[in-house]
Amino acid sequence: MRKILVAGNWKMHGSSSMVSSLLDGLLAAPRSESIDLAVFPPFPYLAKAQAMLAGSGIAWGAQTLNPLSQGAHTGEVSAPMLVDLGCRYVLVGHSERRTIYGENDEDVAARFAAALEYGLEPILCVGETLQEREDGRTEAVVERQLQAVLDHSGVEAFGRAVMAYEPVWAIGTGKTATPEQAQAVHAFIRDKIASRDDIIGGQLRILYGGSVNGSNAADLFAREDIDGGLVGGASLKAEDFLAIRDAAA
Ligand code: PEP
Repeated sequence: MRKILVAGNWKMHGSSSMVSSLLDGLLAAPRSESIDLAVFPPFPYLAKAQAMLAGSGIAWGAQTLNPLSQGAHTGEVSAPMLVDLGCRYVLVGHSERRTIYGENDEDVAARFAAALEYGLEPILCVGETLQEREDGRTEAVVERQLQAVLDHSGVEAFGRAVMAYEPVWAIGTGKTATPEQAQAVHAFIRDKIASRDDIIGGQLRILYGGSVNGSNAADLFAREDIDGGLVGGASLKAEDFLAIRDAAA
């Protein structure tokens, strides 16, 4: 049985006081032994997350990283820096990074490899646009995004990683994929990995992301291949985020 992971991607939201009260709210709630919780604040608040969450059982991670370990790259943040800040996870290939910041499949693969090299657990995000779904290309797009990482790092790497299926048309739109739509793609992803390595495929955690909230989470998490959620908007209020966690219980 894979342990559910509920991960909160705060994107470029927050302030020092908002982060304090949000994390206070999460820390005040009773812990759940059966569900992992993780938050992904913007870079400037990672040190606060480390100070407040250390020893709490709630993990934290970053929203992206540069694939290089150091150098003349103004504005960038490397894997060793994230390790220094106690991060366990890092998101790679989020659709906003792919579309707004032009990260292609090879860039994503390089970031995934850099995270693993330094002991971080990458959460590899994949997913199709609405046009791609309407054209019947969902599986082809997801397969292409996954293949780039497999080519670069090999299937063994997925033994130390998490995946997130995030249909682009469902992110921040209030339009959630139906549990059937999500389950179909999750099963497709698991099969791709399991066809290379049964055990790694069976153990891989695949999160669903795209307008998850307290009302739709239980139905999604009940599906065989959905092992948790990557949550944007609903992770910005402790009670909303905890409602999603509780839906998984
Ligand atoms: C996300 O940011 O990855 C996301 C899924 O956002 P939302 O939950 O707001 O759709």
